[in-house]
Amino acid sequence: EPKIRLDHVSKVYPGTDTPAVSELTLDIDPGEILVLVGPSGCGKSTTLRLINRMIEPTGGRIYLDGDDVTDVNPDQLRRRIGYVIQQIGLFPHQTIAENVATVPKMLKWEKKKISARVDELLDMVGLDPRVYGGRYPKELSGGQAQRVGVARALGADPSIMLMDEPFGAIDPITRESLQNEFLRLQDELRKTIVFVTHDIDEAIKMGDRIAILGKQSVVHQADTPERILAYPVDD
Ligand code: ADP
Ligand code: ADP
Repeated sequence: EPKIRLDHVSKVYPGTDTPAVSELTLDIDPGEILVLVGPSGCGKSTTLRLINRMIEPTGGRIYLDGDDVTDVNPDQLRRRIGYVIQQIGLFPHQTIAENVATVPKMLKWEKKKISARVDELLDMVGLDPRVYGGRYPKELSGGQAQRVGVARALGADPSIMLMDEPFGAIDPITRESLQNEFLRLQDELRKTIVFVTHDIDEAIKMGDRIAILGKQSVVHQADTPERILAYPVDD
């Protein structure tokens, strides 16, 4: 059974006539990294926001573990789905530890359990909790902040991670180590990941499978840079 199933999913934003996503059908298997590529505006970010139900589809059905979640309250998905975006979006007035505690706090875990989890998460992404836990987001480098973004998304140990150009704003050298460390972490965690990127090299490196989203939400599969670039994007 696929972990995530999109069945003819469409999204037309209010006040627009062209669908941002049109009849998209895609299965994502448990434990795989599915990389979603395609030109700007083809609906990659919209697809992620549909999966975690930040936005509602205007057509089609979405299934997680075989459950139809098309109409569920998105709050119910917070525990199951982690979300990492390019502009991390850490809360500036909260410490790193408080930021990482966001989801466990929302789920009303007890204090002791939350603080143990925060330490574990920061360790996982290579930040010493004793050094960084009490700092504020503006005191971190971009790469460190992005690590915190990953730690926060892993808060309640979701089985699904949605990552929207997570390393896109990071300098190339730091990006390389974040990619490597993330792949090592994934070896242990075996999350089901949908990873959006513009960077073909990153797609090849990170993806177990690559899906190319075109203007009509047509999905092609590809496994080499040549094949990715061979698909017409305006069809
Ligand atoms: P941006 O969204 O940053 O403004 P573009 O929409 O122009 O940039 O996207 C350019 C990127 O899209 C290129 O770096 C290239 O890697 C990628 N790209 C171009 N053609 C394809 C394709 N057919 N399939 C997947 N990715 C593509
Ligand atoms: P991508 O991530 O592939 O660049 P997006 O999912 O961000 O594409 O956008 C797909 C299309 O939907 C684009 O034409 C974009 O302008 C439009 N769009 C995205 N968000 C909104 C919104 N909140 N309201 C209206 N149109 C939107």
